[in-house]
Amino acid sequence: MAGAELIGKEEIKEIMDVLETGILMRYGFDKERNGVFKVREFEEAFAKYCQASYALGVTSGSSALKIALTAMDVGPGDEVLVPAFTFLATYEAVMEVGAIPVMADIDDTLNLDPQEIEKKKTPYTKAVIPVHMCGSGANIDKIVEVAHRNKLLVLEDNAQGCGASFKGKKLGSFGDMGTFSFDYVKTVTTGEGGMVITNNLDLYHHAEWYHDHGHDHNPKVSRALEGRTILGFNYRMNELQGALGLAQLRKLDYLIGEQKKNKKFIMDVLAQVPGVGFRAKPDPEGDSATFLAFNMPDENQAQRFQNLLSAEGVDTVCYKKNMWHYVPNWEHFLAKSTPNSKKYPFTDPSYKGDVQYLRENIPQAENLLGRTLVMGISVKMSKEKLDQIKKGIDQAAKNF
Ligand SMILES: *Cc1c(COP(=O)(O)O)cnc(C)c1O
Repeated sequence: MAGAELIGKEEIKEIMDVLETGILMRYGFDKERNGVFKVREFEEAFAKYCQASYALGVTSGSSALKIALTAMDVGPGDEVLVPAFTFLATYEAVMEVGAIPVMADIDDTLNLDPQEIEKKKTPYTKAVIPVHMCGSGANIDKIVEVAHRNKLLVLEDNAQGCGASFKGKKLGSFGDMGTFSFDYVKTVTTGEGGMVITNNLDLYHHAEWYHDHGHDHNPKVSRALEGRTILGFNYRMNELQGALGLAQLRKLDYLIGEQKKNKKFIMDVLAQVPGVGFRAKPDPEGDSATFLAFNMPDENQAQRFQNLLSAEGVDTVCYKKNMWHYVPNWEHFLAKSTPNSKKYPFTDPSYKGDVQYLRENIPQAENLLGRTLVMGISVKMSKEKLDQIKKGIDQAAKNF
């Protein structure tokens, strides 16, 4: 569960700063707000934490993806490569900007396989979205290298990897843009919320304008007189979210440290079970340890071991069967049931490609996700809880 487990007096203090001024909006009201700018402060702290030049707080991880794609000028007629293993929002965001998501296979990191970029790209491909699933990174240096060599933009969906890194550099900061989610079950939570980061000033401005009806946020004039270059929408983060984010961000490194300890304890137990292997990590040190993914030699054994664990009170998820994180299971998506009756963008005449979502196009995902079991790791896992998991695993292994 991560950040939500640690909500306490630090969050209350930050929230009270906002309630004392009564100014809940991040922009304007400069006289009344008494110097309190929580969203701005959160953005600055977050950019610094991620070693990125710019950060923009927004309403959700889903809107962060849509804003980043908009800033990168991805739109009708374009294709975007997206891994088959991700949350629905990554695909939805591509369709929200009128583009078509193309399903790509994963490698043993359980994230986008860099080799898929040249295999699946077409003349219509504009961008690639590697997703760092379950707190651990893709082969991101290779992905960025191959994508840029092919003149494709890279947007990292790091909704699940906040605080994770590759060789000392935070995930989300490798691509042209990176996005984060702060929904209630994510590593850092503001209830609902998200962030867009980038090192590119033009992309930042485009995102910033779009997320607030085109406002250019010129500090020299009042909000009513600000310039407007493009049309936009409202995806503004509010001050209460900014306040929560500030308090949560200060806890992030501690949180990851605790999860790493808990994860290591369970991994050491699982490593004793014959046949158990672990998900590949491009940089084990950079893991944010929100989940533990391990695998069995084949799908049948995975299913059998999962049942035995479950009987001992140890819960795991097999993502090949999960309804929300594996494209072949999204019946409404496969039926092209977009929210409009015209099935746009699939029916857009400017789209010249021929996209298909077939299991046979993602053989590695079919194999790997079928025999992988994933366990959630919490910040607070008591000695008793960990011992109980150890006992459960030992007993399941004995019955296997
Ligand atoms: C949670 C999540 C999102 C969406 O974030 P919300 O804040 O819930 O909108 C996007 N991508 C991935 C991989 C996620 O896990």
